[in-house]
This record gives sequence, structure tokens and C-alpha cells, in this order.
Amino acid sequence: MMADVIADNLLEVRQRVQQAAEKSGRSASDCELLVVSKTWPAENVAQVAAAGQLSFGENKVQEAEGKIPSLPSHLHWHLIGHLQRNKVRKALPLFDTIHSIDSLKLARYTSNIAVELDLKPQVYLQVNLAGEQSKDGYDLESLHADFEQLLELQGIQIQGLMCIPPVAATPEDARPWFAQLRNLRDHLESQGGQSLPGLSMGMSGDYEVAIEEGSTIVRVGSAIFGKRYA
Ligand SMILES: *Cc1c(COP(=O)(O)O)cnc(C)c1O
Repeated sequence: MMADVIADNLLEVRQRVQQAAEKSGRSASDCELLVVSKTWPAENVAQVAAAGQLSFGENKVQEAEGKIPSLPSHLHWHLIGHLQRNKVRKALPLFDTIHSIDSLKLARYTSNIAVELDLKPQVYLQVNLAGEQSKDGYDLESLHADFEQLLELQGIQIQGLMCIPPVAATPEDARPWFAQLRNLRDHLESQGGQSLPGLSMGMSGDYEVAIEEGSTIVRVGSAIFGKRYA
């Protein structure tokens, strides 16, 4: 896609993020925009970075590994896709935030490697709210059972929760899932006695609804870059 179209899209998404925040009585500075650059070449990412965007999301460690070194070093990279254990060591130096921690085993391993590398990534616990077979993420029961042990891990900073709700026909259909993630967060905060400020929820089709329901970071790809073909 053309550079000026991408810049226009970025501006429009930023404005809509701000409007959704204001509409729900929140400050736009509490709703971060993560631009999802998966499948797009570094050249396109550079166009968005040139328009002032700092944070980008990738879903594959290998793809990010090829892209990140050719882009400005002041950018922040978030891993939003499934993290395999054998990729943790490679992922940690690339990403300062991981949105897809979904088991105590993975959290513990990631924490141990982070301590070894003298890193402390921010992480979101991904929750499979609808219990979909096809999706990654913690089931509710395991999350509650593991939560206190997760909080004790020294190598990671648990920022909050992340979800990818079931495919919805309209943005409004996603609202109950976003509300459920927020309620779960509130519940875990009282269980663990520790604040969990982050809610990573909302994508191109539903980020405004997600912000109305308390999202603190929306992950938006195609509304900025256009449709993905890969
Ligand atoms: C691809 C992806 C997104 C962005 O999706 P769009 O619909 O293109 O905005 C957000 N979150 C995750 C986890 C993704 O894999």
C-alpha cells in the first residue's frame, strides 16, 4: 500500500481511539495503539514509524527476527502470537512485551531465561474466554489456580490480561467478551492483591468497543496496512 494511505489510516485510527476513549470518560493516553505489522515488510513498517508510531506487534519470532534489525532501534516490539518454548531465548532480546503467556510452565521458563539474560519483559496472560479448541490461551480454571504462583515469578512483570474473542459478526458482539476480561481482571486483582492495569483487547474490527470496555492497548493491523494476503 502507498505510504500516504498508510499514514492517513494511522491518523484515522488514532482519532477513533481518542474519540472512543473520550466517549467512555477515559483519557486517550490510557489507550495505547499497538500497530500490528505481521506479514508486512520492513519498508511499510518504516512508513508508520516515520509518522511517529513507536510500538509494533508481530506474531512470529522468526519473522520479527528478520525485520527488527533493519528498523530504527527506538521502536518497541510486542510479541502477540503464540510463544513456543524453543523460541523464548530468541524472543526475549527482540520483544519488550509478550501478550501470549498462557501457562505456568511457559511463564516460569520465560522468567528463568529473562533472569539469565538480565531482562524483565512485561507480559500479558492470554485468556481463552470462550474455551475455543482452536485457540491458545489460559482456561479460566487454570488461570485462577496458577495466579499466585505467576505473581511470584521474578523475571517477568505481569501487566494484565489479553484476549482474542470468538469471531463476531458485528463489533457489538465482541463487547460481552471484553467486559468479561475486565471483570476477570478485577477479580484477579482482589485475589492476588496486586494491580493488573493492562487489558490487551481490541483489533481492527472492534477496537472502539474494546476501549469502551476498558482496553488499555488495542492491537490494530489491517485498519492501518490494509488486508493481509499472507
Ligand atoms: C493479527 C492480529 C491482530 C491484528 O488483527 P487486525 O484484524 O488486522 O487488526 C491482533 N491481535 C493478534 C493476536 C493478531 O494475531
